[in-house]
Amino acid sequence: MKITEITRRWPDHESAMAHLEKVRWNGHVVCPYCKSEKTCTHASKDHSLPRWQCQDCTRAFSATVGTIFHHTHLPLQTWFLALAIMLNAKKGVSNAQLSRDLGLPYKTAWSLALRIRNAMLTDPAQKRLFQGIVEMDEVYIGGKPRKGGPKGGSGAKKSKRGRGTAKLPVVGVVERHGRVVARAFNNVPLNSDRLNAFFSKHVDGASAIVMTDEFGGYRGLKAITTHYAVDHKVAYVSGETHTNTIEGFWSLVKRSWYGQHHFYSRKWADHYVSETAFKYNNRNNPDVFSDLMRHMAGVAA
Ligand SMILES: [Zn+2]
Repeated sequence: MKITEITRRWPDHESAMAHLEKVRWNGHVVCPYCKSEKTCTHASKDHSLPRWQCQDCTRAFSATVGTIFHHTHLPLQTWFLALAIMLNAKKGVSNAQLSRDLGLPYKTAWSLALRIRNAMLTDPAQKRLFQGIVEMDEVYIGGKPRKGGPKGGSGAKKSKRGRGTAKLPVVGVVERHGRVVARAFNNVPLNSDRLNAFFSKHVDGASAIVMTDEFGGYRGLKAITTHYAVDHKVAYVSGETHTNTIEGFWSLVKRSWYGQHHFYSRKWADHYVSETAFKYNNRNNPDVFSDLMRHMAGVAA
């Protein structure tokens, strides 16, 4: 969705609120407090006042009550603009840039972006178990990116994984030609039990075939699924046995992570990685804007 389309379709808070009401209720307004359908409208022009009132519990409410949009004191149009800016930015957008683009204080932009990233993190599309040939791998992010040089290559980082590196491990699974899911493993060792648990949470192990590299942590997978390991020292691609798909996703994660952050917070790593994953999973979705808004409005997928 283009920014100009947002301002054309929803020029103010009022029109944005009417759109959210349509997305959330589609003409059947329900009290978010008591679920009563006996409601009436005030049609207030002042966006600080709720537009609806329940005739059973007498509480006043707006379409934002009980959704991610609630309690922000921001015009709803600002949310729509933030959604579009974040979805349009292929390499991600920093909170500082969002603050400048929307004319908001940094902390406000930070909180807005966090809520949107949280919606991406809880994307219902990731809840259906992955199937078919999947690739599982991990990447290490955080710290300052190393500038060039033979020691800065990916080979050097790979050889240090799980041992010397102080970076944050992020584990992911990708379906070939399909979806990806990735989560940070903060302050916990990458062992077989944890990797197996992550795999089982996201993949239908009975039907899937998983490709990994030869990292020892993945050896336990053969107990729960069909597992092939590719030896990168010998060959990067050996027929169907490769991890090129997830390596491609990691390059998107790194580009976004190192491109937009001036400091690195492990605490929010899942949110930033999930933003990249959400965009990857919706790369062929022409109406990702509406789908994300439905999710943010609490409408079941
Ligand atoms: Zn009510």
